[in-house]
Order: sequence, then C-alpha cells, then structure tokens
Amino acid sequence: MTDQPTLATLTEDQLADLIQAATAWRNQPSLRNCIYPGCLREFDMAARMNGREPARPSWSGDGWHQVGGVSPGHICPNHVDTVAAHLARPVDVPNGRWMVACACGWMSRPQTYGGLLRPLWEEHLLYAAGELTAPVTLAETPGRLPLPDHTETSLRELYDALEDTEHDRAETREAAQAMYKAWDWHRHTLAGAARAVTAVCNMMRTSSDFLDRRDWTADRIDAYLWAVLIGWDDEVLQEIAAKHRWNEHRVKYVREMRALLAPITDQPKEG
Ligand SMILES: [Zn+2]
Ligand SMILES: [Zn+2]
Repeated sequence: MTDQPTLATLTEDQLADLIQAATAWRNQPSLRNCIYPGCLREFDMAARMNGREPARPSWSGDGWHQVGGVSPGHICPNHVDTVAAHLARPVDVPNGRWMVACACGWMSRPQTYGGLLRPLWEEHLLYAAGELTAPVTLAETPGRLPLPDHTETSLRELYDALEDTEHDRAETREAAQAMYKAWDWHRHTLAGAARAVTAVCNMMRTSSDFLDRRDWTADRIDAYLWAVLIGWDDEVLQEIAAKHRWNEHRVKYVREMRALLAPITDQPKEG
C-alpha cells in the first residue's frame, strides 16, 4: 500500500481507473429473492431504486411486490397472486406460544418456537398452491393408528393436541366462572334494590289506605313519586297531569321511569 497515489502523484490513467472502480461499485447489483419457497427468481433492487436498467433482463423489478407479516420480503410476478391470497401474520396464543393466521382462514397449530412460523406458512402455501399434497394428520384421525405403528413424533403430536384441549378447557372454565360471578353479583344487587324499593312502595300504599287516607294526588311531588314508584292508571295520570300542569314531556318521562322500575317492583315472588 506504499505506492498508493496521492493527489500530487495521481496520473490521468490512475484517476480513470478510480472513477471506473467507483462506477462499478455503484452499479453493483443488490439482488433480492422471491420469498415463494423454491422460487429462484431475483431482481436487482439497487438498479430499481436508481432507475437504471439491471445488468441482466431477468433482474428486472417489474411486477415485484413487497410484503410483511410472517414472511417479510419480495414476491416475483409469478407468485404475487398466490402469496397475496395467503398473507399471514403471527398471533399470540396462551401458554406463551404463537401461531400463524393466514388471510385464507388457515391457522397453524400453536408453536413454542417462533422460528417455526415461517416454515409452517411456507408449507401451507405449497399445499394451497397444490405443489404439495397434505398428509392426513393424526389430529384428523384420532385413534386410527395402531399402537405398534406409533412413533415418538406421532405420540408427541397426540400429546400436543391433548395439551391444547386441556388448556382451552381451563380457559373456558375460567371465563364461565368469571361470568357466573358477575351474574351472581348483579342478581344479589338487583334483589337488594328490589327489596328496598318495595319497602318504600308498601309504606306509600299503607299511608293511602282508609286509616291514613293520605291523598297522593294532592301534592305534585307526591303524585310524581307515586307515578314513578307505583304507577297511576292511564286515566288518573291524565287527570294528575292536568291538575299539576305536567306537559307531555314530563308525562312521557314519568312513564319511562315507571317502565324502568317495573321489572324490579313487579317481580314475581321467588320460591
Ligand atoms: Zn417467485
Ligand atoms: Zn392461506
């Protein structure tokens, strides 16, 4: 490296060499593969981005697409349609596991190791494209394999299926318990509210009977309370509305409130 030219000693030829080397470096292809398994097509992304012709016609970027998801990368024009119908994303599942959810509706089995997602998706893609024939899996034919024919792998698959089922069942039970608790809380609260409101209504009815003879229509607030808590007959309500100058909105509101309370105050006696 001792005879490397400096600016002072640089000859015309050396300068030309340098420029040529720089140009060659800048024009170096930056090849990208098609993500479709087994596809050997590639295109020159550097040429594409710099807007120049690639060194080989087969490196043209025309018709290529870029995708993300489980298998980020580029798709060649031949495989754009197939891959577009099966764009997939990773999904979190319980137990610290992952699975692939495909746009077509297919889902992989849950996996502990995320690195399996892409190969599983690739396999699915090849099945979908008809390039591979899916074997009948054990999960689809439980118990069909005679015991001597089982291998370590086939047994593990069965145990995995069992584990998934058990986990799902535990989750379902937890959800059902949570719902039951919420329902039970509401049931008790509602029953308490019903008892309290009924106590008030009973007191109002008692005070209006022949001993007390309290007239609940005389005072506008009494009439209002009775209208909501116990309810007037339609005819009486019209009279009260006229007497206390309730407009149609107030009458409508009072009817609404009565309807809301009716399920609580008019409950059939339990037991
Ligand atoms: Zn391809
Ligand atoms: Zn799919």
